Amino acid sequence: MKINENFLKLKDSYLFSTVARKTAEYKSAHPDKEVIRLSIGDVTRPLVPAVIRAMHAAVDEMADAATFRGYGPDRYCYAYDALLDSICASYARKGVALQKSEIFVSDGAKSDCGNILDIFSVDNTVLVPDPVYPVYLDTNVMAGRRILFADATEKNGFLPMPDARMKADIIYLCSPNNPTGAAYTRDQLAEWVDYARRNDAVILYDAAYEYFVTDMRCARSIYEVEGAKECAIELCSYSKTAGFTGVRCGYTVVPEALVRGGVPLNRLWARRQSTKFNGVSYITQMGAAAVFSEEGEREIAENIDYYRGNAQLIADCLDGLGIWYTGGKNSPYLWLKCPHGMTSWQFFDFLLENAQVVGTPGSGFGKNGEGFFRLTAFGTRENTRRACERIAALLKK
Ligand code: PLP
Repeated sequence: MKINENFLKLKDSYLFSTVARKTAEYKSAHPDKEVIRLSIGDVTRPLVPAVIRAMHAAVDEMADAATFRGYGPDRYCYAYDALLDSICASYARKGVALQKSEIFVSDGAKSDCGNILDIFSVDNTVLVPDPVYPVYLDTNVMAGRRILFADATEKNGFLPMPDARMKADIIYLCSPNNPTGAAYTRDQLAEWVDYARRNDAVILYDAAYEYFVTDMRCARSIYEVEGAKECAIELCSYSKTAGFTGVRCGYTVVPEALVRGGVPLNRLWARRQSTKFNGVSYITQMGAAAVFSEEGEREIAENIDYYRGNAQLIADCLDGLGIWYTGGKNSPYLWLKCPHGMTSWQFFDFLLENAQVVGTPGSGFGKNGEGFFRLTAFGTRENTRRACERIAALLKK
């Protein structure tokens, strides 16, 4: 018996555990000080009423033999029509026409980011941005693929563009980005689509934060770009859109037009899902179907506006201090350059000790993250306001 030795090549991720440990140590040494966390990547607003009502109704259906549901329908890999119809309608509002057979409902984008790799050979070369959402990197290290990095830096606004000299088969793009908050315009995405089509590559486009886009030039779906259906898979999530981080639901789009090696990737993914996955619970699917209803859309927009208001407070604070940053406009994340040439961890300690504010050191997301720092807008308004006042008071000195 041999284990998968690729797992031994994974770098241990100390980022969030070190943030938690340092914060706990500070708190126990200074019990009188109140620490504010602007490091949270999880949502804090509750599920909206339209979702709650739909889930309650689904629970009642499960309690009655006449309306009880077991496994989901086979036809679309266990997704119910009501949910698929609502997803098609939400794409139609973005000007994108999809068929139900192109949508695969899952328990979230993180699982699909890793699972989708089952349909690709391990011989493919993968291109991931640096800094990066660690899942893209680690899932490919586990599989033993060759990995190239696309440098995201201050110079390119943390939006790397294709380099014709690099030959990649699988390309990860995340826009609006975690951790940098930077978002590609449609024109920039068109360059990636062009690169992928020329190189016979496939783009894995993570749209987990699409609902935060406000800039009309930025895409909410890669399929807003012509030709993308022939080269891109899109990974979507209800987590940040509708506060489903604890409910768990997402969907992945594999267009019928996406063919590699003469084989439609939609068929491979449908086969993979029907073999290794048994669908998302009926109650969750009904809750998710309510998200894109007229009422649901209005209610989730209020929550997203709340987070946007927090992002604006942080952006105003950084603008006032003359600190360079990306994000905050189309994203709940702000990615700032540490002042006075501090490293990411030096700035972490400095903020914690002098302002009792916790953020996330950028160096934990890749080498290009060194000297940068992530703040998030997922906290409460009150805490965000007080954190900004403390940061402003500290750095104005
Ligand atoms: N993709 C990105 C870029 C994320 O930042 C996250 C969560 O933080 C996810 C995917 C995970 O989404 P889900 O909760 O649907 O698994």
